[in-house]
Amino acid sequence: MGLQLYNSLTRRKEEFKPLEEGRVGIYVCGPTVYGHAHLGHAKSYVSFDILVRYLRYLGYSVTYVQNITDVGHLTDDADEGEDKLVVAAKKEKKHPMALAEYYTRSYFEDMDLLNCVRPDISPRATGHIIEQIELVKVLLEKGYAYEVNGSVYFEVAKFPDYGKLSGRNVDDMIAGARVEVSPDKKAPADFALWKKAEPNHIMQWPSPWGPGFPGWHLECSVMSMKYLGKTIDIHGGGLENQFPHHDYEIAQSEAANGVQFVRTWIHNNMITVDSQKMGKSLNNFITLKQAFSGAHERLTRGYEPLSVRQLILNSHYRSPLDFSDAALFAAQSGYQKITGAVKAVRKRMGTAAQGEADKKVAEQLKQLREKFETAMNDDLNTSVALSVLFELVRLAQKLLKDSSTNVGTLNLVNVLFDRLGGEVLGIVKAEYPEPAGLDEKRFNQLVDIVVGIRDKARKNGDFETSDAMRAKLEASGIELHDGPQGTQWSIIETEP
Ligand code: ZN
Repeated sequence: MGLQLYNSLTRRKEEFKPLEEGRVGIYVCGPTVYGHAHLGHAKSYVSFDILVRYLRYLGYSVTYVQNITDVGHLTDDADEGEDKLVVAAKKEKKHPMALAEYYTRSYFEDMDLLNCVRPDISPRATGHIIEQIELVKVLLEKGYAYEVNGSVYFEVAKFPDYGKLSGRNVDDMIAGARVEVSPDKKAPADFALWKKAEPNHIMQWPSPWGPGFPGWHLECSVMSMKYLGKTIDIHGGGLENQFPHHDYEIAQSEAANGVQFVRTWIHNNMITVDSQKMGKSLNNFITLKQAFSGAHERLTRGYEPLSVRQLILNSHYRSPLDFSDAALFAAQSGYQKITGAVKAVRKRMGTAAQGEADKKVAEQLKQLREKFETAMNDDLNTSVALSVLFELVRLAQKLLKDSSTNVGTLNLVNVLFDRLGGEVLGIVKAEYPEPAGLDEKRFNQLVDIVVGIRDKARKNGDFETSDAMRAKLEASGIELHDGPQGTQWSIIETEP
């Protein structure tokens, strides 16, 4: 059986078949770049990274498009409030475009550390204003939209399939509206395609309806169409984007093109931190930079980025995931176990005897690989796939204990680590550079320890030990100065 994916549109697992054999186009809603990426971003983009990696592992040629939202995402996800970028830019006293550039770079930096493969195309919303205006024109011509006072709205009553993804009907949506309805709208559920800009609004462009800016949802319809075509294989995003964002995208795209917009919709579930929804007011809002450095009061230490990745892979992408210091710590020790085994296998390959791979081990490895693929084919069950990787770790440890294990066998183990743990899961690295020598701080700590031990010997009258240690330290270039406050030390300067 091939790859089965859960399609949010049909609400069931389906055998995945791309429109064109051997090729897959994926569009994933990218970040709105007005702050550093946080743990929620990590869960979302690691999940889609796994999908892209696994499709490539299966031999598909994948085009992965993930946009950068740098205009039009308002503080209310519907179409009221202020532009999130403009609000943050005012606070940081930057031009909104400078802010967007800064946080876009920060985002890629964090995603690189999480070992997420970069998208093939990362289109910016502000780079596609012309195409967005064109789509609005089409929707006006086809009678799905109307213009009022310089703004253009999509008229949901004209689109019978409206809400088919989230399963909400128009009445539910109106009841759930959090903001006052603009008096310009014909019906409360209508949404903005283009918004009129007030003269002092910094992010604005000329349009046939006067100066304005695009509604947030428009960019994804336009950019997926431009780079992947009118019907795309897979569209991904967070569960929180299913409504309204994705239902709006469907309405705009299908009304304009008259064909199905997306064949498979994939949504990843959300995260909690210490079992609570992550929020700035709860003081559990943790950015990736804080998770990596440990600079957050909920964390006892900084975590290796790939152990954050490993924690994400421990649960299914459609399940919620709870981040906590303890969970991160457990994931980190698991990650180190895998890393340790991979390094040991590679090191041993340098000294082990030559020879062909053991047939029994080769068969065991083949079975592990099949088990891994079965798990991944079942809607990307990474937690089972990860447990298979741990089985491989245990097998490797057993083989390393046996002095007769030869290079051929170790090579097969290493290849499987690379393919399953590296290529698909992204937690095994191709190379592990040797750590640099002791830094100054650690060197000083080490000498303090040694000098402390010698000082104790001297105070106890064990002059034989203390004198021997002094001599050895001096030979290593460290001079001791005994005094009433204890012993100080310095490095003996030598002529260059
Ligand atoms: Zn989107």
